[in-house]
Amino acid sequence: MKDTKLYLVIPCYNEEEVLPETAKRLNRLFDAMEAGDLISGESRIVFVDDGSRDRTWELISSLSTDYPRFRGIKLAKNAGHQNALLAGLMTVKDECDCAISIDADLQDDIEVIPQFIRKFDEGCDVVYGARNDRTTDTFFKRTTAVGFYKFMKAMGVNVVFNHADYRLMSRRALSALSEFSEVNLFLRGLVPLVGYKSDIVYYQRGERFAGESKYPLKKMLSFAFDGITSFSIKPIRLVWSVGAVISILAIVAAIYTLIAKFWGVTTAGWSSLMISIWFLGGVQLVSVGIIGEYIGKIYKETKRRPRYIIEEYKKDE
Ligand code: UDP
Ligand code: MG
Repeated sequence: MKDTKLYLVIPCYNEEEVLPETAKRLNRLFDAMEAGDLISGESRIVFVDDGSRDRTWELISSLSTDYPRFRGIKLAKNAGHQNALLAGLMTVKDECDCAISIDADLQDDIEVIPQFIRKFDEGCDVVYGARNDRTTDTFFKRTTAVGFYKFMKAMGVNVVFNHADYRLMSRRALSALSEFSEVNLFLRGLVPLVGYKSDIVYYQRGERFAGESKYPLKKMLSFAFDGITSFSIKPIRLVWSVGAVISILAIVAAIYTLIAKFWGVTTAGWSSLMISIWFLGGVQLVSVGIIGEYIGKIYKETKRRPRYIIEEYKKDE
């Protein structure tokens, strides 16, 4: 008898159209995994209602009364995908051996869940699901998404390429995650900071089978912006560099202005104006950069991220 207690955590926002089918498919998968001794009979499917305005919660609550396998958590108001996900994970973290997060529309292939569990059994604490092609996404979504990962990397944020929030985390990885107390959540950037042994499982991403995307462009952009500004102070450093470049240019401009002045091709007042503009511009940008460095430090301090996570402590008993 296998005893891996798997909890599936699914954030749902106005998902009445997909929920019945999602529940049916997951139920079938759990039946098969239990029969195949991959997971324990005490595994659970946990829906998190993120303040939906349709019948989502009614559906979740009747599922959870009818079947012990299903559970429901209702958030008091719409908190956003990332917060809903965290709420679910943190609620179950002390009960499960591992938890997998997945979207309600099952665009992420649930057939690879057994592979997640196998990697977990082999000793991985984090298993990332990464899509290996994006043919089902629209051209727009595909290009913006690829651009997003490239840009994040350039900005110094460590994210797993093509991985969204479809992932398995062990109980101890979840408990390490709970030590991060930041409010601006960008989970796919945080989880790699936790550390521990991890692996990637590749899958094909399907289309949403019903309902429409709850991530319009506006939300996507603000999500990307959050990701960068929550993880990187590179934009601040950029101000510094621009300031330094302008300061060097100021010297060049000063030399040029003086030459022009002594050749007598200028009007009175021009040289002093030119030199001041360039020089002040450079000085101001460098000053803003310096202030920015301090703000960057304050920002890192206020996050109160754990400075280390201990994996093992061996000692004589
Ligand atoms: N979601 C949520 N709260 C929100 C927006 C979305 O819990 O405010 C959930 C949604 O129900 C779904 C998941 O986040 O389970 C991903 O949303 P969606 O599939 O619409 O995003 P897309 O796949 O289009 O990026
Ligand atoms: Mg989706």
